[in-house]
Amino acid sequence: MDSICPIGLQCATEISALLSPPSPLQVQKYYHDLLTARGCSGIKVKQDGNFGKGLYADMDFKEGELVLKDPMLVGAQHPLNKIDCLVCSFCFCFIGSIELQIGRRLYMQQLRANESHGCEVGSSSKHCHEMDSSDEEESTQQCTSGSSKTKVPLPEGIVESLMNGQLVLPFSEKFSLPPAVPCPGGCGEAYYCSMSCAEADWGSSHSLLCTGESSDSARREALLKFIKHANETNDIFLLAAKAISSTMLMYRKLKAVSLEEQMKHNTSCVSNHCNLSILLEAWKPISMGHKRRWWDCIALPDDVDSSDEASFRLQIKMLAFESLQLLKTAIFDKECEPLFSLEIYGNIIGMFELNNL
Ligand SMILES: [Zn+2]
Ligand SMILES: [Zn+2]
Repeated sequence: MDSICPIGLQCATEISALLSPPSPLQVQKYYHDLLTARGCSGIKVKQDGNFGKGLYADMDFKEGELVLKDPMLVGAQHPLNKIDCLVCSFCFCFIGSIELQIGRRLYMQQLRANESHGCEVGSSSKHCHEMDSSDEEESTQQCTSGSSKTKVPLPEGIVESLMNGQLVLPFSEKFSLPPAVPCPGGCGEAYYCSMSCAEADWGSSHSLLCTGESSDSARREALLKFIKHANETNDIFLLAAKAISSTMLMYRKLKAVSLEEQMKHNTSCVSNHCNLSILLEAWKPISMGHKRRWWDCIALPDDVDSSDEASFRLQIKMLAFESLQLLKTAIFDKECEPLFSLEIYGNIIGMFELNNL
């Protein structure tokens, strides 16, 4: 385990239990239960020793037939895409109205054109290596094409009236969208298509990650630092934070159920120690994903010489450690301590990397 991360040493047993791949029987049962719960028939997940998992059909489907609708495990809208469209932070459908979408896009583009001459386009998806000259060229081009020089200016007030609903575009009623429901925590960052999506997101991860007034001020401040760091380095950390938060919240739910059971049978022994079997159960969806440490599996970028590979990988590892410390300050929970080890953080991000998310 890792010497820079004390949790790695303290929780070595728990971490190795979390990272040990599930047996073929466990995999089979997990996907069988999942497909049954979704009411799916005619498809199966099979695992192959060489190629990993695959989705197989065992009957013919009609064209256009819905085969499987499954909520994503964790998802996030890329920060750059947020400029282009307003979507539900849980199910990612378009929200608001056609006018709001167009008005908001024009407004954001204008805002970006005004402040863009430092041009940060694309920097959030870069890993921590320095940009080489070709990267810079590319960014400059993107910057130029996004500039307002060649565009015909819009009549004054048009963007505002699109955004506030005063201007209605022809036929837009034929493309009605669900109204944007703001996050109940008041962060002003997350919007939803419905109260049910707002509640589902709150229950699955956003209650730990919301930066609104309803979070305590120390957590809010720490979260803002974590988010800023992710936006400046790599937004994959935001997704990793969702994976950790959703596991923690699931752990709390399962533990509450188990305590209730114990009370019924009068065998209560309330403890604040990590209950490994409950943590493993909460972690189960993530345990199914193929994983390696991020810094071990990330492809070496073209602009990094192979002689610098070791230092590049170390740099990535240190970047992940930096991000993890910020996240830990914000949402650490002693009972879920193993989730805050660098080993787990690196494997969650590595899972995203390997699954091409
Ligand atoms: Zn939704
Ligand atoms: Zn919020």
